[in-house]
Amino acid sequence: MSKNKLGRIVIVGAGPGGLTLARILQLHGVEVKVYERESSIDARPQGGTLDLHVESGQYALQIAGLFDKFQTLCRPEGQDTRIIDKSGTVHYEEVSNEMCFDRPEIDRHDLRQLLFQSLKADIIAQGHNLQSIQSLSNGQHKLVFDDGVTDTADLVIGADGAWSRIRPLVSSAVPQYCGVMIVEIQFTEVDDRHPEIAKLVGRGILFALSDNKGLIGQRNGHNRIRVYITLRVPENWVAESGIAFDQPEQVRDDLLHLFADWDNSLLNFIRFCDANFIPRPLYMLPINHRWETQQGVTLLGDAAHLMSPFAGEGVNLAMLDATELALAIINADDLKQAIHNYEQKMFSRAAKAADESATNLDLCISPGNAAKLMAELFKKMMESGPSNDKENFVTR
Ligand SMILES: Cc1cc2nc3c(=O)[nH]c(=O)nc-3n(C[C@H](O)[C@H](O)[C@H](O)COP(=O)(O)OP(=O)(O)OC[C@H]3O[C@@H](n4cnc5c(N)ncnc54)[C@H](O)[C@@H]3O)c2cc1C
Repeated sequence: MSKNKLGRIVIVGAGPGGLTLARILQLHGVEVKVYERESSIDARPQGGTLDLHVESGQYALQIAGLFDKFQTLCRPEGQDTRIIDKSGTVHYEEVSNEMCFDRPEIDRHDLRQLLFQSLKADIIAQGHNLQSIQSLSNGQHKLVFDDGVTDTADLVIGADGAWSRIRPLVSSAVPQYCGVMIVEIQFTEVDDRHPEIAKLVGRGILFALSDNKGLIGQRNGHNRIRVYITLRVPENWVAESGIAFDQPEQVRDDLLHLFADWDNSLLNFIRFCDANFIPRPLYMLPINHRWETQQGVTLLGDAAHLMSPFAGEGVNLAMLDATELALAIINADDLKQAIHNYEQKMFSRAAKAADESATNLDLCISPGNAAKLMAELFKKMMESGPSNDKENFVTR
């Protein structure tokens, strides 16, 4: 299909998925517009570190022509993994080879910036929060943003994450609570201010798991460590627990109480972290979420297949979706058929990852010595499994 016959293409959402799609389309001379709710890439903290897998996230960056730059930004040593229980007993330890680029880590902010800076300035319209979208009788879609801006597109791609406003056009599915809440904390200037925490977490990721709880510490770039305090609690726990999340010193005391029988060195995460505790309930779409192909609209990434981060696949799938969709659009003779083919492939790989993610979540945040169970599984996979299984086990 010639480029001008594709019509107007609009992407909603400038996360890793939407940006990857825009970048590859731009490389192939396809005109595209991206609308993003946030006013700038630095408008809010961007979250932790992400490991990009060879066959998905890294492949996407190769097709996007950004792989060499990625290699200068990523941290191969971030693949180090240690699994301990609440007493501090080590059940599993893996020290990575710095020359091994199987699943190097990159901060989410750095990844978005890499993609963002590769786009022409007029492609992205920031500070545009999609309010509604309407299907028109001619097959186009009309988008209305909360600042009054409107646009009409021949193809709309919903890359707008967990609470997608495009999704209702193709599916009635809504995200469900996974049963697990994380409270995100961090240490800035950690090497200087908290060398004991830096040593405990090391270069990669530390899982401390027991009794339906976890303290998951990860080394980020820029002299930071992020810790996910992970709890199996009801969805309304933040309101019901009575913990005043706007009063950090009280939160510290309340959380220390929840982990009272954990080793003192682990409690230092809660005692000494920066004074900001962010609760995040984890949600997922139904495993095997799918829909009938619709004229002029599709989804990618979390908008299509939100899952808990316990398969470490979310960003990798989003970037692979974006790559396959971009190539489908570029090479399409029949655009609707090309989108249908893209969706069918995406549905089956997402179902597999979502299933794995749910299984891993149940194992990691389980009663008793979850660290031991998880370590046994890791060891088995190291001995026998193909390397992809090892890469995809848990959030990294
Ligand atoms: C705590 C945590 C840890 C994680 N760890 C990992 C990990 O280790 N490995 C991994 O692979 N994945 C991980 N993930 C998942 C990963 O972050 C997501 O899967 C990934 O970001 C999905 O990318 P996306 O582009 O589809 O969506 P998003 O990154 O969610 O981007 C969506 C974009 O759309 C914008 N948007 C939303 N609504 C609108 C609107 N109405 N109008 C305009 N713009 C809008 C948002 O502002 C955002 O920029 C983790 C997730 C969490 C919560």
